[in-house]
Amino acid sequence: MRIEVDADLCQGHGVCQDEAPTVFTVPKRGTVEIVDPSPGADEHAAVRAAIRYCPTRALSITDEPDSSKGTHR
Ligand code: SF4
Repeated sequence: MRIEVDADLCQGHGVCQDEAPTVFTVPKRGTVEIVDPSPGADEHAAVRAAIRYCPTRALSITDEPDSSKGTHR
């Protein structure tokens, strides 16, 4: 899992921080900062909730190739 944010869409509501405070930080003024762009599996549910509830849909997940599968190019 890799998280991306469209800073043009983010309006700093802080919903994502409420859902996943270890992953997102939202300053009082400004847009979200992603503290941990590649969170561990125990954070995935919270991150998905944050993405679902973000009112401006500024957040998205880019699924990285799963390195644990051992595929090399
Ligand atoms: S919930 Fe969405 S709009 Fe609100 S701070 Fe997070 S990314 Fe920005």
